[in-house]
Amino acid sequence: MEPNKPKKIIPTKTPIPEQDPKIRRTNFEEVALGYSPEQAVLEASRCLQCKKPSCVAGCPVGVPIPRFVKAVCDGEFARAIGIIKEANLLPAVCGRVCPQENQCEKLCTLAKKFEPVGIGRLERFAADWERRQGDGRLPDIAPATGRKVAVVGSGPSGLTCAYDLAKQGHSVTIYEALHEAGGVLVYGIPEFRLPKAIVAREIGLLKRMGVNVVTNAVIGKLITVDELVQEFDACYIGTGAGLPRFMHIPGENLNGVYSANEFLTRINLMRAYRFPEYDTPVKRGGRVVVVGGGNVAMDSARTALRLGAETVTMVYRRSLAELPARKEEVHHAQEEGIVFELCTNPVRILEDGDGHAGSIECVRMDLCELDESGRKRPKPVPGSEFAIPADVVIIAVGTGANPLIAQSTKGLSVTGHKYIIAEEETGKTSMPGVYAGGDIVTGAATVISAMGAGRKAAKAIHEHVMNSPAKGE
Ligand code: FAD
Repeated sequence: MEPNKPKKIIPTKTPIPEQDPKIRRTNFEEVALGYSPEQAVLEASRCLQCKKPSCVAGCPVGVPIPRFVKAVCDGEFARAIGIIKEANLLPAVCGRVCPQENQCEKLCTLAKKFEPVGIGRLERFAADWERRQGDGRLPDIAPATGRKVAVVGSGPSGLTCAYDLAKQGHSVTIYEALHEAGGVLVYGIPEFRLPKAIVAREIGLLKRMGVNVVTNAVIGKLITVDELVQEFDACYIGTGAGLPRFMHIPGENLNGVYSANEFLTRINLMRAYRFPEYDTPVKRGGRVVVVGGGNVAMDSARTALRLGAETVTMVYRRSLAELPARKEEVHHAQEEGIVFELCTNPVRILEDGDGHAGSIECVRMDLCELDESGRKRPKPVPGSEFAIPADVVIIAVGTGANPLIAQSTKGLSVTGHKYIIAEEETGKTSMPGVYAGGDIVTGAATVISAMGAGRKAAKAIHEHVMNSPAKGE
């Protein structure tokens, strides 16, 4: 910026085109349509190019944000995506699902007075621009080191770890329990927020880099971690936290009651949304109640609506201000006509007389003194019980660690809830050569934090394997 010619600040983000709510609630097409090149350049021109940028500190994988935004501003989109990929294998994913409002954009200097730069929207733009150009450029790959690393789990954490290790010249094999790689990105987050073709393309890039992806391979059953340690020079565990939690209230075992994981897996991974092409059984239509207030609950509610529900009601025990889901998703859900029953908690699910859910009894909650999480503690209001008609109830009250690996791996230290204990900076576990990160260590968190853990572990694994003799072929 020239010192005597102050830059004129545009106070608000360049709006991103979106599908009309009335139309999009009936289809699985993406909600946000992405910037045109002109819109992207305009948005990028809002960046102040701070001498000491604070936004980068808010990104767990350290994307060089001001540099890539400058490249977009200059219309040099290939340079922009190249800069992003120095740090991030999954820009098209992160640009769509990262909670930027709590990360990079929260720390943007503009955000002190105005709306922050739309960093996520620009990241998505650069990634989508590259996709439209063709296959995408492979990163530089170091000469082969002769070292082999096993990665267990193909969610964002495992994929990032594999990417960084493959770039260093190591031979990487990913083992994935499901029949398709991608973790929550393919079985959890719905098509209208994250098209599956985008995830498949990023995994395709890894394969082109020489990473071997073995699906239908449940580690702890098919092969144990101890066996992997015998065969590979190191092992990274990124198995996520996909075990559904329930509320343990009467009626949870009735027909028509789903965990959010099962509901979303049937629709996303097993493609029920492409009926009749895929005939995956799932209850469609009717009156749907979703319990919970996070991203998983929001995705379940908006998915049920698109499957033809008459009404979709979200039941959440705290207020709108405390809803943990991304603000953008809450806004989209409201626009699409999802009903929010706030400060409300389920008591029991009532039968319709034929073994199926018919309604859900709830109680109003008062928000009292602050609890240990710093949020107001919800307390039932006596005598405030009421029923909501519900043919389908989806429980989205959180997930935990699947205990399989903990139970089948003696030397691995885990917490009481079977999360793996690992050093924050390196992912090192109690077993030599075994590293872990992502939701299986932290509990359910975010895509980018899982990626950050994969990246830190890849660095530590590289140092470890290069300082140890290679295991034989
Ligand atoms: P996962 O993505 O869970 O991947 C773990 C993989 O390991 C899975 O594929 C699993 O099948 C595999 N696995 C498990 N056990 C074994 C085994 N024994 N052997 C082999 N493979 C195994 N975060 C955001 O930042 N933004 C969002 O908008 C957002 N929305 C979400 C919506 C939903 C519906 C859900 C469920 C989560 C959402 N999250 C979101 C959270 C985010 O997706 C997770 O924090 C992230 O995916 C964790 O990554 P991970 O790699 O640790 O685990």
